[in-house]
Parts: sequence; C-alpha cells; structure tokens
Amino acid sequence: MQQNPIRKVVIVGGGTAGWMTAAPLAQRLGRHCEIVLVESPEIGTIGVGEATLPTIRFYNSALGLDHADFIRKTQATFKLGIEFKDWGHVGNRFFHGFGDFGPALDGIAPHHYWLRLARTFDQMPDLENWSVASRMARENKFAMPTDAQPGVTNAFSFGYQFDAGLYAAYLRDYALARGAKRVEGLITGVDQHPETGFVTSLRLADGRTLDGDLFIDCSGFRGLLIEGTLKAGYEDWSEQLPCNSALAVPCARVEPLTPYTRSTAKGSGWLWRIPLQHRTGNGHVYSNAFTTDDAARQELLDGLDGKALDEPRQLRFVTGKRKNSWVKNVVAIGLSAGFVEPLESTSISLIETAVGKLIELWPDRDCPPGLAAEFNRAIGSRYESIRDFIIMHYKLTKRDDTEFWRYCANMAIPDSLAHQIELFRTTGRVTILDRDGFAEPSFVSMLMGLGIVPERYNPFVDEADMRQVHGHFAGLRDLIGQTVAKMPGHGAYLEKNAKA
Ligand SMILES: Cc1cc2nc3c(=O)[nH]c(=O)nc-3n(C[C@H](O)[C@H](O)[C@H](O)COP(=O)(O)OP(=O)(O)OC[C@H]3O[C@@H](n4cnc5c(N)ncnc54)[C@H](O)[C@@H]3O)c2cc1C
Repeated sequence: MQQNPIRKVVIVGGGTAGWMTAAPLAQRLGRHCEIVLVESPEIGTIGVGEATLPTIRFYNSALGLDHADFIRKTQATFKLGIEFKDWGHVGNRFFHGFGDFGPALDGIAPHHYWLRLARTFDQMPDLENWSVASRMARENKFAMPTDAQPGVTNAFSFGYQFDAGLYAAYLRDYALARGAKRVEGLITGVDQHPETGFVTSLRLADGRTLDGDLFIDCSGFRGLLIEGTLKAGYEDWSEQLPCNSALAVPCARVEPLTPYTRSTAKGSGWLWRIPLQHRTGNGHVYSNAFTTDDAARQELLDGLDGKALDEPRQLRFVTGKRKNSWVKNVVAIGLSAGFVEPLESTSISLIETAVGKLIELWPDRDCPPGLAAEFNRAIGSRYESIRDFIIMHYKLTKRDDTEFWRYCANMAIPDSLAHQIELFRTTGRVTILDRDGFAEPSFVSMLMGLGIVPERYNPFVDEADMRQVHGHFAGLRDLIGQTVAKMPGHGAYLEKNAKA
C-alpha cells in the first residue's frame, strides 16, 4: 500500500497541553509537515498546573532545552516530592519523596528489612531517614544527583515547580523557532467528511477556515473536537474522586524556599502550596457537595503564609477521562482527554505520555483504527493507574471529623486498588500494574504514611544476618545525613545556578 503521509497538523489550544504538543512535533516534523496551533485569547487558558513529576526532565531533555535557561525563564524551583499534612489523621505528617529507601538487598525492597528490624527492636524508626529526597526536603537542601556509582548522591530524583504560563510561552518560542505557526482566533464551527466523519477543517469567528489532516484537541475541559464534534463520551469518576472545585491564588514568596510541594488535608478537600522563585502558588481543592465556596475561600486565605497577590480564582471540574481520546483523525491531549485531580501533580506527566505515545504511533492520513485503539488502550490504563493511586490517598483516611472524610472512608473503590491495599496490608508486597507509573517506593511512602503497617514481610528476609542488616541501615542513615548536610540550601543553589 502507498503511504499517505500527514502534511498538516492542526493543534486546537495554546495552554500547557497545546504547546507541549507543538514543541516536539515541530522539532521532529517541522521540515516535512505544517504545524499550526490555534488559540483564542477570548477563552484563555486554565492558568494552573505548576507542580510536576520527575518525568518532565526526560521531556525537556528530548527537546534539548538548556536546563538553567529553562529554570530562569519559568521562575522554576526544584521539587523533591510532596509533604502530606493531616492526611490519614489530623496531626499526621509524612513525605512522598522522589527516589527509594536505599538499595534493594538480595533483590528484596528495603522496607521488608525495615519491617523485620522494627519488630526485632520493637520500635518503628522513621523510614524517611533512608530516603535521600525526604532528608533533603526536610533540611531545604538541593544539589544535582551525581553520575557516580549508584549510591547516596544519586538515589533521588526531582521534578520542578514552575509558572505554567511561562512554561507554555517558553515552549511556544521553541515551537515557532522550528517552523510551527500560531493562529489567533475563536473556533466556531467544525467541518467533517460526509462519509468518514473525519474532521476536515475548522471555521473561525472572523470567517477564516483552517484545514488539516490530523487534529489535536488541546482545548481544555470543553473538549471542543473530541466531545463537541465526535462525542467520544466521558467516564465520570467523581464517586471515588469527589473533589469538583478549586480556588487558586498566588501569594508573596516566603523564606526558606522549600524544594517540595505541600498538601494539607482540610475538612472537605485539601490545600496545595507550590513555591516558585517569584511567588508561591496556593489552591484549595474541595467538593462543593460538602462545603460552600465561601468557606473554602476563607480556609484558603487563612492558610497562606505570604500576602495574597490576587483574588482567588474559581475553577470547576469533573474527575474522569474521555472514553477514547483518539477518535478518527482527532487526538485529545491534556484536560480535553481527562482530569484525575491535582493531588500528586500528574496532569503534565499525562501530557508527556500522550505526546510520546502519539509520536510512537504516528499515523498516516488514513489514521488506521488499530493505532487509535492502541493509543486508547495505553493512555486509558495510565489514567486508571493514576486514578487508583489518588483514590488511595482518600480511601485510607482514618479521619471521621467531617462528612467528606466519612464519605471517603466508606466509598467503594476499584477492585484493582482494593487488591493492592489488601496485598500490602497482609504481605508488604506492591503490585505494579503500570510500569511507567508510580513505582514501589511511592506506594510504600503513601501506604505507610497513611498508616498501613504490613502484617508480614518477605520471608526471605529471615535468611539474612540481622546484625549485618542493622549495621547496613545504621551506616546508610548516617551517610545520607552527612551527605545532605554538605549540600547547599535550595534557595542558595538556585541563586548561584539559575536565578530568574
Ligand atoms: C485546580 C487545578 C490544579 C492543577 N494543578 C496541576 C499541577 O500542579 N500539576 C499538573 O501537572 N497539572 C495540574 N493541573 C492540570 C493542568 O492545569 C493542565 O493539565 C494543563 O494546564 C493543561 O491544560 P490544557 O492545555 O489542556 O487546557 P487549557 O489551559 O484550558 O487550554 C485550552 C486552550 O484551548 C483554547 N480554546 C478552547 N476553546 C477554543 C475555541 N473555541 N477556539 C479557539 N481556542 C480555543 C484556549 O484558548 C486555550 O488556549 C491542574 C488543574 C487544575 C484544574
């Protein structure tokens, strides 16, 4: 069969998703294929989405971005993980750090040895002592992981916290420099092929039309093409992820500049705190079935640790995902494809995954259905594994101080998650259903942080000489402490290497 290559791609939307899609397409296809992005200043972008996962570094480095330049231009800080406060029970505090709790011993994850030690010595030492990321975060330190042999100096990872608008603008400049074109205009109509139903062109309010071979829907929650035109359908997850509202407000930066995001559970949701170089981003994610917008706004303002720089902005959403995010010649990426909710900052990572998958499965103009089916399978299972991970944060609560938390504790959860929780509770084992998703140490952080101490550990641990194991753990804890003590402060590191 003759190949029928795509000659023109139209990206609908210039938010984080639109420009994160345009940049790698322009880099790879810029010379052979026209890439046009259309955005409407009248509609604007969602304007939130400031914390990321470590995977963003692979995305940035595939584009060849200069690390320090990117940090400066986006007012970025480093993110070593998330501090959870009042999750599980009021007064609880733990850290989900990026990295492990020390190396596996004889192929067995360290938390199994830790469980045995805790039993042997009849005490529960703080597991976070063996997480380099957690120790760095606790002391507000930062240094780059080194290329040395695996060890303490590279047993952690990091993402960034940045200004989402500046990041989109940074990628816009990158994409335009590589041949992408930007069109400003409001899309008011969509034309489809009468037989195939493929989208053929977009009509703009000022009378212009934009034709194309492949359309990428980055239009945000409205899902202009994927839902508005192609009626892909939406799986609603709000019974298990009940938050449906957010209020966002920036405040003045305060010292010290923390290298992590904070999530504080409240009566009907949670607060985020994301420190950037020039300001701190704050928000309250909540369910308006359990509290009022006014009460949520007040709780947000009461929780600020700097002067509010604006009025809180209200957002509404329905957690869930599009049943299929690739239909005919339309691929939805970003909020148009779904939204799990911002806890654990996974949306930008889902954009990275979707763009990567689209490039891997790049079609010709016929868009063979097999490629769409594979894309939908892979992206669907990514969303579901993140959904399970996030539901776990709510379900494992012991809080019964509000109706919201009583609802979460009693709600039905997906079988896949119930299996994971039970497996860990009884055996300490983690089953990873998504190899590209959260890894074992992330599950261990969250499950133990939320109060589950496994009844058993891996029986092979009993074969080890426990005096040696004890020595190993004590030595590692001290070495991490000494290494972190020598690192510069996070603020000082940025000041020296990438001050905005
Ligand atoms: C409360 C909240 C907090 C979040 N926090 C995080 C976080 O910490 N980390 C994270 O990874 N993600 C987070 N997210 C998600 C993140 O904000 C989004 O994934 C990201 O911003 C991508 O948005 P988008 O580009 O899909 O949509 P949008 O930013 O909404 O962009 C939509 C674009 O489509 C265009 N458009 C729409 N309709 C038309 C039309 N008719 N004609 C022309 N143009 C049109 C608009 O002009 C705009 O350019 C958060 C989301 C919410 C709601």
